[in-house]
Amino acid sequence: MRHFPRLLSLLLVITLSPTLAFAAEFDPTELDDENDGENWMAYGRTHSEQRYSPLREINHNNVGKLGLAWSLELPDARQIVATTLAIDGVLYVTSSFSVVTAIDARTQKVLWTYDPKVTEHAGKTLRVLWGTSRGVAYWDGKIFAAAGDGRLIALDAKTGAEIWTTMTVEKDSYYYVTGAPRAFNGKVIIGNGGTEMGPARGYVTAYDANSGEQVWRFYVVPGNPADGFEDNAQKMAAKTWNGEWWKHGGGGNVWNAITFDPDYNHIYLGTGNGSPWNQKIRSPGGGDNLFLCSIVALDADTGRYKWHYQTVPGETWDFNSAMDIVTVDFNVHDREVKGLMHAPKNGFFYIINRSNGKLLSAKPFTKVTWATEVDMKSGRPIEVAGSRYEDGEVKIWPGPLGAHNWQPMSWNPNTKLMYLPYHDIPGTYNDTKIKHVDFQATGFEFDVGVAYGADDISPDVATSGLMAWDPITQTVAWKIPYPAMWHGGTMTTGGNLVFQGRGDGKLFAYRADTGEKVWEFDAKHGISAPPITYQVDDQQFIAVPVGWGGGAAMLGGSMGAQHGWPYGMHPRRLLVFALDGQAELPPTPPPMFATPVDDPAFEIDPALLASGTDIWSKTCSWCHGPGGVASGGAPDLRASGVMLDLDALSNVALEGALTARGMPKFENYSKEDMRAVQHFIRSKARAALAE
Ligand code: CA
Repeated sequence: MRHFPRLLSLLLVITLSPTLAFAAEFDPTELDDENDGENWMAYGRTHSEQRYSPLREINHNNVGKLGLAWSLELPDARQIVATTLAIDGVLYVTSSFSVVTAIDARTQKVLWTYDPKVTEHAGKTLRVLWGTSRGVAYWDGKIFAAAGDGRLIALDAKTGAEIWTTMTVEKDSYYYVTGAPRAFNGKVIIGNGGTEMGPARGYVTAYDANSGEQVWRFYVVPGNPADGFEDNAQKMAAKTWNGEWWKHGGGGNVWNAITFDPDYNHIYLGTGNGSPWNQKIRSPGGGDNLFLCSIVALDADTGRYKWHYQTVPGETWDFNSAMDIVTVDFNVHDREVKGLMHAPKNGFFYIINRSNGKLLSAKPFTKVTWATEVDMKSGRPIEVAGSRYEDGEVKIWPGPLGAHNWQPMSWNPNTKLMYLPYHDIPGTYNDTKIKHVDFQATGFEFDVGVAYGADDISPDVATSGLMAWDPITQTVAWKIPYPAMWHGGTMTTGGNLVFQGRGDGKLFAYRADTGEKVWEFDAKHGISAPPITYQVDDQQFIAVPVGWGGGAAMLGGSMGAQHGWPYGMHPRRLLVFALDGQAELPPTPPPMFATPVDDPAFEIDPALLASGTDIWSKTCSWCHGPGGVASGGAPDLRASGVMLDLDALSNVALEGALTARGMPKFENYSKEDMRAVQHFIRSKARAALAE
């Protein structure tokens, strides 16, 4: 019974596809096979997103002999956060601005490179996208790349030639795409981000993998009732909103987690936080605000709503549920449970019944102070009074960076443990100076209706690490605290190993059962992407692209800068490891730190400083860092000569002299505004030099 739909879909692929010879080589059941470890064919390796490979040639006994087999420079890359795919001896590496490089895993030759030229297509969207991309999808001879500006592009996996392109968002809008598409049943699905950058309404769209035609779209939050609802789910959701929420978009953007479940033919969405964050503005009077911060199950063929579970009713902290959703079948008291596991920003680890969305278990996995527990009867969190900053400023754990972010966790069916990268970092929320009634986000500015500490982030506020979480008992099996924070996702294998790269450039292997460190390699540059493993000619390889990236490389301030990876200083490369690998890591400069410059003759004007601080926090900080401290994703402007020259600064920021390199054009600002930004950055540079 269980295999019937998959056999049927295979037959359909073979009989309907025009390229019969190629299609016959593609076996969609491989995407649901945890026992075949040759390929890493999807974002989470298989549909389950377990990131488990059964390969065991490299195992806890011999991993000490693991060495670099080869490496490939990725010269134009910046931030690298993507999962690499390995399919039939070809590696598909995604780097910044969604550039895809196909590499012959045997010869290490680049077969093709596809550059979607995001900076040329992005227009105003360049102001909100970061250039990060978490990877591509594969289906039947095609690679699907999602460009940051919102295009979904099908490429011939053999040649890199474009087959079709479709635009998934409105052009020049504040929607952008960083997530990896997922492919299933001859379709490819993608969501979007943008919750923080304007009045956004999240949605996902499924397209026909062959033609690029839209098959279905699902909106996460309801629109204006006067326009009519798209479906009954929207009608139901609208009852949980108040005021004129549609003017604020509502949010819920599905920017990361999408999981396909062949057992129930479900798509699970991990939905985003509210737009704006502050619920008092978004939905005055409260309400659960469906389907924010939820897992929503949809029928994979039609996109029709099946069930939902909301992790944060009435969210008001940026506690999105966009973190990965892992499907796991496990036994409790000899009964098989078809569950899904989810560890979102809010700090609770959830197990949910996949057939009906019923909550099976929820326990905190880090410090959590906004809620005491999740009530198992109602499935709702029991909130701590004051957490909604209703009595003024409040500091709670976790904060907007989350107890767990997009860095994927992995599940090992042998140890029955989930390997979860975590952080303990609080957030400080205060809306006492914000007008609730007339608030309207302008778009293309970071405007979330609550102040949450727009200045620099001290490295001391956060701790982090890797934990092996036992979901059955909801306890820590083992835990390794790390220095600093913002590390890569994990991967686990049949060789009783867990692999993870860290922000400081170290790549580790641990015993999956005990957490004992059994191997270490210094990649000499921050690792943010998760490792993968694959097999070519019966030999097992481990691959990881190296290149510091993601939110903490943009918004991390001093916390992100502490590893020493300033913008453009360290090479990006793919590293591939095998037993007895003898290759040498090419030369890499040591960690470095920005040196602010000052002009002693520059007199800081308090009024211009105030105006510059406002512009900085709404616009410049999105890439150049809170408090003027950049963490590597963009240049540290305290050290920039351009900032000392008003004409040069205006040329870059107002005229768009560097748009091709990713620096947006801000024609909405004036030269006087740039003068104000100069006053801000001089004050920050001077303060840093005085330390
Ligand atoms: Ca968010």
